[in-house]
Order: sequence, then structure tokens, then C-alpha cells
Amino acid sequence: MKNQPLNSRRKFLRNLGAGASALSLPFLGYADNEFVRHENNGLYTLDKNLKDLAQPGRKLGIALVGLGYYSKNLLAPALQETQYCRLAGIVTGTPTKAEEWKQKYNIPQANIYDYKTFDRIADNKDIDVVYVVLPNSMHEEYVVRAAKAGKHVICEKPMAITPKECQNMIDACKKANKQLAIGYRLHYEPFTKEVMRLGREKVFGAVKFVESSDGFRSGDPNQWRLKKSMAGGGPLMDVGIYAIQGARYVTGEEPISVTAQFAPKTDPQKFKDVEETMFWQFEFPSGAVSNSTTSYAAGVERLYASCEKGWFELAPAFGYGPLKGRTSKGPIEQPVVNHQATHMDGVCKDLLDGKTLRDHITGAEGLWDVKLLQAIYQAAETGRKISLKA
Ligand code: NAD
Repeated sequence: MKNQPLNSRRKFLRNLGAGASALSLPFLGYADNEFVRHENNGLYTLDKNLKDLAQPGRKLGIALVGLGYYSKNLLAPALQETQYCRLAGIVTGTPTKAEEWKQKYNIPQANIYDYKTFDRIADNKDIDVVYVVLPNSMHEEYVVRAAKAGKHVICEKPMAITPKECQNMIDACKKANKQLAIGYRLHYEPFTKEVMRLGREKVFGAVKFVESSDGFRSGDPNQWRLKKSMAGGGPLMDVGIYAIQGARYVTGEEPISVTAQFAPKTDPQKFKDVEETMFWQFEFPSGAVSNSTTSYAAGVERLYASCEKGWFELAPAFGYGPLKGRTSKGPIEQPVVNHQATHMDGVCKDLLDGKTLRDHITGAEGLWDVKLLQAIYQAAETGRKISLKA
């Protein structure tokens, strides 16, 4: 991937008109060319090979794979209010959950799968998109199987544990001529889009430094999130990725180096496999720097940018909302939306319109974040500054 942040920024500025008008529309998806990361992405076009869902007016059928916390409490309720997609099927290894969801959401038996029968979803015309909401180590297998079954895919963050897994997922979707989106719900969220605009348009002058941190106190000591083989790491993999994204999207730049440190463990038994708290620092091409904390020991949720002529911040910045923002000139006012509904609608509207998805939401973005996650661990483990190249 080629990184030309200054050109990207120019391109972003050239397209501000389109971005501003999109904000006044009821649908809060992205305007063309918003959230540009790579120069000449050229991907957001009508792709003749991907026209199969280009049927305006129809709602896409989504099948959720894994009916844990996020599916049950956030995605399924959101799918009751989406304009461009609906809950059409489920994939679960627990028969009692299958029965409960079948009743609650009126899901036909033919659209209910377990992990063994999952591949038969290929024959199900009612399901257009498979949404993988499993532990991180299982994302690769189910994205690849979904692509092979001929379905477009949404995969939760982090995209996977290693860049190699991410690449396999991208390759499988490409081979099947199917699109792959990542569960970056905040990319469609108005407060987030506003701080991106404030930073990228230099409303308060150039961003000089960013503090971007996300953490919470984790509970159950036996959960998969504390097992390195399933989660890939600790809070960095889980919520630290939001702090990485925050620093990237308010600067509109890609980091060129990282240093990182692990904090001492206060509960070594609980955190025997993964970090409990850690810190990292990015340098950006413009000279802007960011500092971040992520933790499973205690809560933090803040995105603060200090600029030449003022500052802006979101706090809370990364949770399910409502997010809150303020600047050195006063509060940030934006509509409060359902993050999950807006995200799924944003992705599905593009699929229905027969467009290839924008770079910021695809596997390319997921892969880059996983590379950054790995670089942060490498920096903390070696104590060295790691150079980065987008
Ligand atoms: P969870 O533990 O609540 O649910 C995981 C689901 O996977 C469960 O239904 C479980 O039964 C199933 N599963 C299947 N095989 C399993 C196995 N071998 N071990 C453990 N569980 C297995 O987790 P969650 O909080 O729903 O997270 C799922 C994914 O969603 C993760 O990748 C997470 O990072 C992501 N997530 C994203 C957001 C967001 O805001 N975008 C929020 C929460 C979670």
C-alpha cells in the first residue's frame, strides 16, 4: 500500500463540499471520497463484477455468526432499525440460543446453522452477508468459509490476530469476488466524523499532539479475551485498536514510527497470558505525535487533539454512545445515532448500490491496523523504536 498523506489530505480537502452536504442528509453514511486514507484508492466505484446485490429498495439479509455479547446486545437490536439490511439468519453452536433467537426474531429454521452446517449457507438465497462476531482467533476461518460460500462478509475488529491471517481473508474474498468490511462502527458516527474534520481541515491549525486512550476494568478471569491464543493479546487487541484509529483519523496521517511500554502487572495471575496495561507513542510525517494508554485494569476513554490554535476532544470517545465532544471554542453538537445500525446500513447501502466498499472500512484498513498492533507489541517487547511504512 502506498501512503501519501499530504496528497490524501489535499484530496480530502478537495472533496469537502461533498462531505458537508452528506451530513445534512438523513442517512449518515459517508460521502464519496470522505475518510480517504490512500491516494488514488479508486476503489469506490461501481464494479461490474460486484453488481449482484445492486437492487435499491431491497434489504440485505445478514446472518450473524456467534451469538455472544456483541451480537445479542448490540447487533441484533440494531438490525431491527436498519434501513438497508435485516437479521435473516444465525450461526450458533448452542441449540438453546438457536431456539431463543428463532422465537424472538422470527428467524426461519432454514436460516439457522451451527458451525458444522455453516457451509450450507452457500445455498441460502435469503442471506447476502455473513457477519463474523466470534473470538478474534476464529475470524480468519469463518471469513474464508463465508467467502467460499459466496457471501459478502463483515468481520468484527480486530480483523484477525496476524497480518498473514488478514491477508488470507482478503485473498479469499477477492477470489470469491465478494466484499469484506470490518466492524469499524465509529467510521459512520457523527461525533467521530466531526473530529476527523476538525483535525484534517486544520480548523484549529495543525494537530501537534494527540492523546488517544481506551481501556476498561475487565471482569471474568476465564474469558477468551485473556487468552493470547484466542485474543492475540490483551486490551491492546480489544480496545487499544480504537485508540490507534483515533490518532490516525484526527491527524489524517499514518504513523511512521512507534515506541511502546508495558506497565507492571498488578494481577499477574489474571494477566498471566496478556498485558494488563500498556502505553505507546506514534510519530506522524507532519511532526505530530500521539500518546496512548490501553488497559484492562481501569477505565479510560478519551481522544484529545492539541492544535496550533486550540484543541478538541471526545470523551467518551469510543464506546457505544452517546459520545460527547467539546473544543476550545465550545461544545460539539452532532446527532446521536445507533452506531451498529449506522455502520451496517453504511456498508449495506454500498453493496446494494453495487459499489465497492471504501478503503477505510475494508480488509486493507483492518490489515493495516493489525500490522500496527503487532508493531506496538514489538516495540514494547524490544524496547526499541519501530519504523512503520503504510
Ligand atoms: P463473546 O465472548 O460475548 O461472544 C463470542 C461468541 O463466540 C459466543 O457466542 C461464543 O459462544 C462463540 N464461540 C464460538 N466458539 C467459541 C470458542 N471456541 N470460544 C469462545 N467463544 C466461542 O464476545 P463478544 O464480546 O461478542 O466479541 C466477539 C467479537 O466482536 C470480538 O472479535 C470482539 O472484538 C468484537 N466486538 C466488537 C465490538 C465493537 O464495538 N465493534 C464490541 C464487542 C465485541
